[in-house]
Amino acid sequence: MEYFTIDGIPYMDAGTRRTAEGMSTPVRCNFCGGIYDLGTVHVTQRYADCSVWKTPCCGHNADDRGESGWKSFKDYERIRL
Ligand SMILES: [Zn+2]
Repeated sequence: MEYFTIDGIPYMDAGTRRTAEGMSTPVRCNFCGGIYDLGTVHVTQRYADCSVWKTPCCGHNADDRGESGWKSFKDYERIRL
């Protein structure tokens, strides 16, 4: 069961919190639901307006265009510690 704050950032359950502890920018993967650190992803391509990386959890290509509203599907959600 997912809970979202008023600004759309999901609350973390205890297991997620343990996983995300120590990460600089924990995010939840929207492909598989895994948690990874946006601060340590390996960026594979960098454009003027976005970066592309391979998600460490499931190997999908993800980018940050969803954050600026470029596309309706966001590849990840920031989570709050
Ligand atoms: Zn994933």
